[in-house]
Amino acid sequence: MTASMILVLNSGSSSLKFSIFNSADQTEPVSGLAENLGQPDARLTVRSADGKTSRELPGADHQVALEALVAALSERGFSPEHWLAAGHRVVHGAESFSASVRVTEDIVQRIDDISHLAPLHNPANLEGIRALSRLLPDLPQVAVFDTAFHQTIPAAAYTYALPYHLYEDHGIRRYGFHGTSHRYVSSEAVRLLQLEPDHHRVITAHLGNGCSACAVKNGQSLDTTMGMTPLEGLVMGTRSGDVDPSIHLFLHERTGMNLAEITGLLNRESGLLGISGLSNDMRTLLAAAEDGHARAELAIEVFCYRLARGISSLLVATGGLDALVFTGGIGENAAGVRERTVYHLGWLGLNLDVTANLNHGRYQQGIISTTQEPAVLVIPTREEWMIAQDTQALVANAR
Ligand code: ADP
Repeated sequence: MTASMILVLNSGSSSLKFSIFNSADQTEPVSGLAENLGQPDARLTVRSADGKTSRELPGADHQVALEALVAALSERGFSPEHWLAAGHRVVHGAESFSASVRVTEDIVQRIDDISHLAPLHNPANLEGIRALSRLLPDLPQVAVFDTAFHQTIPAAAYTYALPYHLYEDHGIRRYGFHGTSHRYVSSEAVRLLQLEPDHHRVITAHLGNGCSACAVKNGQSLDTTMGMTPLEGLVMGTRSGDVDPSIHLFLHERTGMNLAEITGLLNRESGLLGISGLSNDMRTLLAAAEDGHARAELAIEVFCYRLARGISSLLVATGGLDALVFTGGIGENAAGVRERTVYHLGWLGLNLDVTANLNHGRYQQGIISTTQEPAVLVIPTREEWMIAQDTQALVANAR
């Protein structure tokens, strides 16, 4: 029997998202999620052509959830003997990883060594790797890093204007995130527009719950809006993006909030939710703005203005623009956000095709501008598929 399936795992602190990709025919026959891990209401949901099933796993940790997952997949005919390898999403690769790698004990140690840079994410990602190693020790595993694509960003773009020893001693610099998504949609834009692989300038805007834009020149990331953490840059669902760093001290002195509380406010109570006072969900805000909700309208306008400003600033890195790409839940679905953002960028020669903008989305990728040079596109992201591709390539190379 030929093993052609690739398990893709995205292991969070209390969740385990998974997909099975079939490398033989490039399909994704099964996917799902174990959630609320460690809680009494932990559960496992599996989706396939046969439908969706859900099972309670009270108190399950990552290991128990993974065992239940393997059993559920086996029942559907996707048992581990069909698996070629597993690919893991790992959030932070710091300066240690500029590409995806085969997981070894040394790699696990190196990911652990940089966990202080992403204390909420890397330990959870490692939990998934270790649980799978215990369960299926012979299955090849690959780590795919959110930061890796951005390791080509030059020092002028990644260096904070802080005392330099903070970079040397503590690794304080800009790293960037959503690298797998920016890599995929920029390469798709190059393919769709038939741009020269070694001569193109693309700006990608990944707009989901987290949002970042990226400057891609000749296949390489040269700058991005997120920084040392995913808090920097654009306005997001509940994250502030860029604010004056003095706000920390001001808030502390005026309200008595401590550092952890202020950090929580910037991460979980700000962004679209903070401005609107209504929701972090762009769908809700677009509907409310239609109904005359003034702060929903303001939240959307701040979001789009800051996005356009972020995109403009990235043009310094590319030195021009062949294509602007929208992706992520908002980028793929919110035609109104694309319209407002492109309107702010009219001075660049971008002109939206209103009908194409309305007709493109998650299920229809392509050009939404009347202009081809530069072009504006919607390209649904496929991060899990990219993880599967990297995994397959690394495992094949090792054979
Ligand atoms: P994540 O970053 O967690 O992967 P997604 O990329 O799925 O999230 O994006 C989630 C966001 O996409 C939601 O918060 C919502 O604001 C937005 N979104 C999803 N569907 C629509 C839609 N039809 N119209 C507008 N916004 C949408």
